[in-house]
Amino acid sequence: MSINRRDFLKLTAASGILLASDVKPGQAATGKEMPPQAVGFLYDATLCIGCKSCMYNCKKYNTMPGGALYTEDGRNMNEWNGPEQIWDAPRDLTAKTLNIIKAYAEEGEQSFIKRHCMHCVDPGCVSACPVSAMQKDGKTGIVTYDADKCIGCRYCQVACPFNVPKFEWEEAFPQLRKCELCRHRLAEGDIPACCEFCPTGASIFGPVEELRKEAEMRLRLRTGSEYEYPVGTVDGAFKLPKKVDQYVNHIHGLEEVGGCQYLMLASVPFDKLGMPTLPKKSYASTSEGIQHVLYNKMIAPIVVFGVLAGAAFRSTKSERGERDE
Ligand code: SF4
Ligand code: SF4
Ligand code: SF4
Repeated sequence: MSINRRDFLKLTAASGILLASDVKPGQAATGKEMPPQAVGFLYDATLCIGCKSCMYNCKKYNTMPGGALYTEDGRNMNEWNGPEQIWDAPRDLTAKTLNIIKAYAEEGEQSFIKRHCMHCVDPGCVSACPVSAMQKDGKTGIVTYDADKCIGCRYCQVACPFNVPKFEWEEAFPQLRKCELCRHRLAEGDIPACCEFCPTGASIFGPVEELRKEAEMRLRLRTGSEYEYPVGTVDGAFKLPKKVDQYVNHIHGLEEVGGCQYLMLASVPFDKLGMPTLPKKSYASTSEGIQHVLYNKMIAPIVVFGVLAGAAFRSTKSERGERDE
């Protein structure tokens, strides 16, 4: 049996007609709720000095192959061993880099931005994974990955609106890699490495509800006034005083694609910092709604069965001694 291009186009067109006629705005399933005890991060770019301590310690405490430091002949080391070493300087998230600091400087504005998994409230990666290798923890809300379940289809990569999961192309038995909010450290009573080793309080950890309140309060602060910024955790005893910068009036992650457990503040608009402009509704709820409509009415299975049966009929004509069209 074979499916030629014409069959494929027929299937696509048929599906498109069905989608256009059956799925109307507002018909998709509602987005999911964040667990009440969800944990996450608040990154305040106005406090970030671009030291990359968070990147270095992310690699170190997640035993990333290829630590932050390389020797010139390509050997990698996780500890500083002498001046012959050079820094690993990835340009973007990779299967060996779960967290990256990027810099923006243009038109008199400058800012850093810290990129890693957003731990979405309604994650596209979880919705798209056919074998539940990507899952959202019901209590903490952390989006986790199980390499033992993963079949390497990479649907999660396609479905992530933030382009986060990365595939280990160079490995014999590749996995997807992304930040899992240092859940191994949380299990030991520690906080995520990127927050513990951030020297300025730019990255702090805590319950998302507390982080949200802290972010909203910072937006109400008067520019130029002094504020004692917590370091490490949102309720941390250690605080650093600093003059308040001019914030953009937006908490990134609060509403994007149904909300995220990674919230951000900055003094530069987030689109300039490379963050995609996204709708409030999660893509996962939209696609699940479409699937629901199609499968509820058994439309998609019938169309697919019809096309496949047609393809099978034509490709076996010669065996049945019939003349092809
Ligand atoms: S940012 Fe991407 S990988 Fe992370 S939870 Fe959201 S959809 Fe999944
Ligand atoms: S929580 Fe852990 S894995 Fe995620 S970015 Fe921070 S250090 Fe890296
Ligand atoms: S450790 Fe803190 S200050 Fe340094 S780059 Fe990371 S977020 Fe910015």
